[in-house]
Amino acid sequence: MSPYFLGLAFRQGGHPGGIEAVSLLPTLQTVSRIGIFGGTFDPVHVGHLVVAVWVRAALGLDTVELVVANEPWQKLDRPRINPPQDRLAMVEAAVDGIAGVVASSVEINRGGPTYTVDTLEAYRGDDPGGSLYLILGSDAAGSLDTWHRHEEIAEMAEIVVVDRPGAVGERPPAAHMVVDCPLLDLSSTQVREWADAGRPLDGLIPPTALVYGRRRGLYG
Ligand code: ATP
Ligand code: MG
Repeated sequence: MSPYFLGLAFRQGGHPGGIEAVSLLPTLQTVSRIGIFGGTFDPVHVGHLVVAVWVRAALGLDTVELVVANEPWQKLDRPRINPPQDRLAMVEAAVDGIAGVVASSVEINRGGPTYTVDTLEAYRGDDPGGSLYLILGSDAAGSLDTWHRHEEIAEMAEIVVVDRPGAVGERPPAAHMVVDCPLLDLSSTQVREWADAGRPLDGLIPPTALVYGRRRGLYG
């Protein structure tokens, strides 16, 4: 049963002859349930958004945070990663109007190389009683045991895996749950390649994010 229903009661009166639904939520301590969906988002694409929306719905999360990596240590061999502030601005534009999905600058504000364990510690520090759900595409999940302090990651958050074309069925050794999402065969690498080749990006990236990217000359 959702916390919403738990938080409803009925009382008589209030308006003439009627029974009034009263929310008890302000008096009940509900535990926050936050999804952490980290990435480079260079650029954010609809595959990311669908994962965020579907996992939030499946698990009844309060919010899913798209946490934009400052310096993704696994991608430092890549010739160019667009500036964090630009990647963040595109994510902010992309999530605008999507209920319960937000952009987070926590890793950019922290600066330096990005380690997910530090991010989980920061969220836990802000809300020690809350529950954290670390959302990973199956490609990322398959290599979770190579991540910095991965045992602590698995202790601090529930691991949530969504399948991704090219990596369907890859799973972390740690305990995890799997959420079914539409399989969208799309990656930022592919989007960048299509942009370089002059292919259209409309529909792959939300319109407002694409406008920002074009204005800044980031992709294509
Ligand atoms: P790149 O090609 O640059 O690595 P990406 O599309 O993989 O980009 P990331 O920013 O690396 O995007 O990924 C962030 C998270 O989103 C990862 O957990 C990744 O597995 C997941 N993800 C990205 N695209 C998809 C997709 N199409 N379906 C499911 N998960 C995805
Ligand atoms: Mg990736």
